[in-house]
Amino acid sequence: MFKRMQSMQMQAVHCFQIMGPDQHEYRAIIAIHHTHLGPALGGCRCLHYAHEQLAFDDAMRLAQGMSYKAALANVQQGGGKAVILLPNNVDVDDVDRNFLFTWFGQCVEQLNGQYITAMDVGTQVGDMDVIASQTQHVASASNIGDPAQATANGVMVGIKAALKFHFNSSEVKGKSFAVQGLGHVGWRVAKQLLNLGGEVFVADPEEEKNWQAQTLGMTVVAVDEILTQPCDVLVPCALGGVIHDDIVDQLQCKIIAGSANNQLANDDVALKLTQLNILYAPDYIINAGGLIFASVNYRNNNYESLNIDHQSAAEIDELIKQKIDSIYQTLIEIFQQARQNNQDVNYVANEVARTRLDENIEPSVQLKAQAKGDINYAA
Ligand code: NAD
Repeated sequence: MFKRMQSMQMQAVHCFQIMGPDQHEYRAIIAIHHTHLGPALGGCRCLHYAHEQLAFDDAMRLAQGMSYKAALANVQQGGGKAVILLPNNVDVDDVDRNFLFTWFGQCVEQLNGQYITAMDVGTQVGDMDVIASQTQHVASASNIGDPAQATANGVMVGIKAALKFHFNSSEVKGKSFAVQGLGHVGWRVAKQLLNLGGEVFVADPEEEKNWQAQTLGMTVVAVDEILTQPCDVLVPCALGGVIHDDIVDQLQCKIIAGSANNQLANDDVALKLTQLNILYAPDYIINAGGLIFASVNYRNNNYESLNIDHQSAAEIDELIKQKIDSIYQTLIEIFQQARQNNQDVNYVANEVARTRLDENIEPSVQLKAQAKGDINYAA
């Protein structure tokens, strides 16, 4: 465990457990990868895990991803992630969520602001509101709202950057897009692409969503055909790991640019995409809009304890917009560096993120927090 932490440069991994009212053991892991740019911010997953090692791996890998995401999005946050391990013999519908998230809120509170939690797979706004009754360190309770629009806006900015780099024009009109998943993000992206004159292919297992898309003028294709749909831009907005060894040779797109986390199944796939001349917009850069939204709003809500100026709603909107717009330049620079050095885009993005973390950009944030006792190094 310590070796794995060391290899990932993980700062701390906190473990918690409690006996539930149903006499089952509930466990939570909070992994904190880095706090040099600010307190770690990252979602809380609440799932069944076949084995606890998988939960540790999930928490650490995702916390590291959040550090890279924050570093490249220029937000004053570090990377963290929490997972709650549901007992394997308890159905998710039978969980006492009020008990569970009250307890989890107390776990977060014990870390004194070193970790800020948010919504993720298996958690909802209602859970965040329960957490907020125990701690202020929560960034997606109902007082902040749904980050999906901000994420979708970031994806649109990223798609335009990729179009500009590949076609020398960021024009959506006349280009074709295959959107996998019509959820909170995918639906918004598909609609914006359509409104800008793009030809939009979509697929979602939920027929109602497909029907709505078709009504607007999008073309519905089968769920198992969307990834190989001939198009200019493939926009994965559903699941992780969708670009894997078995599918990569069948892709018929020129660009991959979507919101889904961990789209590439492994590093070899990233290399293969470069060989196939398919431009990949690294997921954690293009989907940073949600983090930007959560971070900016959280900081403004907690301006007193963070000792920063309070901003008006208009100023906050403008700040979020500016940061989301900067995804364009970040991607262009990474695409250029990858082309110049003949490296894959994902590798270059990881290197740039690691360099930013090592350089401790904005160390004042950390020093201020340490001075106030907000950051303690538990491992
Ligand atoms: P969501 O759960 O609202 O939507 C996912 C959609 O994908 C659903 O409509 C689902 O039916 C569909 N889907 C599932 N399996 C599919 C398949 N095989 N083919 C096609 N569609 C399928 O999720 P979301 O909030 O829209 O997020 C989408 C992705 O973006 C996720 O990977 C998420 O982790 C990532 N992401 C989301 C945000 C955000 O702000 N919501 C931020 C960053 C990253």
